[in-house]
Amino acid sequence: MPVVAKLELKNLHVALEDGTEIVKGVDLQVASGEVHAIMAPNGSGKSTLAYAIAGHPAYVITEGQIFLDGMDVTEAEADVRAQAGLFLAFQYPHAIPGVTVTNFLRQALNAVRKARNGGVDDPMPVPEFRRAFLAQMDRLKVSRELASRYLNDGFSGGEKKRVEILQMAMLRPKIAVLDETDSGLDIDALKVVAEGVQELVGPEMGAVVITHYQRILNHIKPDFVHVFVDGRIVEEGGPELAEKLESAGYEEWDTKEAAA
Ligand code: ADP
Ligand code: MG
Repeated sequence: MPVVAKLELKNLHVALEDGTEIVKGVDLQVASGEVHAIMAPNGSGKSTLAYAIAGHPAYVITEGQIFLDGMDVTEAEADVRAQAGLFLAFQYPHAIPGVTVTNFLRQALNAVRKARNGGVDDPMPVPEFRRAFLAQMDRLKVSRELASRYLNDGFSGGEKKRVEILQMAMLRPKIAVLDETDSGLDIDALKVVAEGVQELVGPEMGAVVITHYQRILNHIKPDFVHVFVDGRIVEEGGPELAEKLESAGYEEWDTKEAAA
């Protein structure tokens, strides 16, 4: 029986390097098999929260803790968190000139395998890698020509997002955090990407879908919706909350925040 994986944020506060507090006390529990949507207006701190979970050094956790499967990773480096099973799909993926998509993925995958193998090298045999890689590329409609290009170098917005999900599909994280994966995607690309994520959610993976808009949630069905305004979760509910937001927007909470 698969063990349930779990990400826990406890009273998480995150500041920028200049000390400005952006995330102001977030509590969240995500288990494998679950999809959590964090819905928020622009500038509310979504990416800051995502980066802090992933361990980006420019985002400082000033209070609270992050646990992955009961292990405190609040102070852990990004690569340690990745090896422990956390994955972040970036809103703005960076280009890595000189490193092809294939090589990047093989190295990332083998680093995770090594960590899971007690620090001893355990590279995936090349034919097996190739088979898995081609299958995932086809599934996510990533053109084969992209595989030999430098990562994200000159990629369109849609190509970048699909390659993020391709990484996720290859790395098989326990908890995936998707930061505005829907932005800049046309409806066909959105469907492919969303279905790619939805298929991986199950006993071995949970997902946090961070988004401004409701539309990606038509394709990735959330179990829980958290409304996030000005660094705080201000309301929680089920999928119906996403629909309410779609029609009413964030105004209700924005004005409450401004008044507070
Ligand atoms: P969202 O993803 O919800 O749009 P962000 O987390 O990107 O919000 O940004 C929240 C606030 O923090 C914004 O005011 C933004 O300008 C600021 N911010 C985020 N990251 C940085 C950074 N690296 N340097 C300076 N300001 C930042
Ligand atoms: Mg953002």
